[in-house]
Amino acid sequence: GEHSLNVGRGVDSHSMMQPVGVCAGITPFNFPAMVPLWMFPVALACGNSFILKPSEKDPSLALRMAELLKQAGLPDGVLNVVNGDKEVVDVLLTDPRVQAVSFVGSTPIAQYIYATASAHGKRVQALGGAKNHMLVMPDADLDQAVSALMGAAYGAAGERCMAISVALVVGDATADALVAKLKPLVEALRVGPGLGQSPENEMGPLISREHLAKVRGYVDQGVAEGASLVVDGRGVSHGEGYFIGGSLFDRVGPEMRIYREEIFGPVLAIVRAPDYETALRLINEHEYGNGTAIFTCDGDTARDFTTRVQVGMVGVNVPIPVPMAFHSFGGWKRSIFGPLNMHGPDGVRFYT
Ligand code: NAD
Repeated sequence: GEHSLNVGRGVDSHSMMQPVGVCAGITPFNFPAMVPLWMFPVALACGNSFILKPSEKDPSLALRMAELLKQAGLPDGVLNVVNGDKEVVDVLLTDPRVQAVSFVGSTPIAQYIYATASAHGKRVQALGGAKNHMLVMPDADLDQAVSALMGAAYGAAGERCMAISVALVVGDATADALVAKLKPLVEALRVGPGLGQSPENEMGPLISREHLAKVRGYVDQGVAEGASLVVDGRGVSHGEGYFIGGSLFDRVGPEMRIYREEIFGPVLAIVRAPDYETALRLINEHEYGNGTAIFTCDGDTARDFTTRVQVGMVGVNVPIPVPMAFHSFGGWKRSIFGPLNMHGPDGVRFYT
């Protein structure tokens, strides 16, 4: 809490952080361990009880974590896991016994959670989707940028809220050189099961048949909108799994749906910008503002970018600038609803 001496003659004042009560967390399919771990350890450490509603697509890890806590001596009723989808979520958003709701998932659902739970008098933190841009300046170390892009765009098959899905490149010469270096690497991505017997695979399947159809649909859409498809991942498959190869688009325009919307798959869009100011304006005008990065060797440009870009988490020559647990995690604009970020100091503030 806070403490002030002599707020009046002979009178001190102090505040105490107290738990809020029953807290609920609703989490997405990707990062089925990490995202719940952004929430319930902080809530529990602050003295609350917690109801976790994991994604119905991969709920087993949440159950396993609860079993481990029980084994470690956590009393029954302190951490509770309930399974289900919208029907269960709606109970948590409206039941008067729930005091606080944490959510991570897509933007339309985040907005719904924020509006509904707030209307029922709860405090809410709701993190949404993303379209993260990496700005590549002409003075960047191109090999470093290419290596960073391969991991940031295609790692976890692009199913990460901090994945880079747009490479915003300043100047045609830089873009031509970047595409020439990226193309063979994207074509060579080894796609297949990520299980123990095939450790050489670099990219596993997508989460579901529906999501595979959606990602393929975006590649079709990009071609129809006139972007140049440099690498087409649609031909890559593996048995009956939901596999798709990496796709690379060049000459993507800001009016295209593949630029405006979150694809959440292994599809990287190259957007060419004539100069730094145009590139910065594009990022600032995008509806999402989760993470971004600049690749440059110029300290002045890097400093300018970190202060003027309208995005929550910013990397300089670091493609995925994710804060460690002792700092707070959160984007800006339609990547978050509510004033407080996840974990770190904001997490303690939220759960007290
Ligand atoms: P999702 O929005 O479909 O689902 C998230 C959670 O909401 C799940 O538990 C689901 O059961 C529940 N849900 C779904 N529809 C609902 C409805 N109509 N009413 C109430 N609850 C509902 O998201 P997803 O597909 O599981 O996860 C991927 C999304 O999450 C992407 O958009 C990604 O960017 C985002 N994400 C964001 C962050 C971040 O930190 N900002 C982190 C990870 C994932």
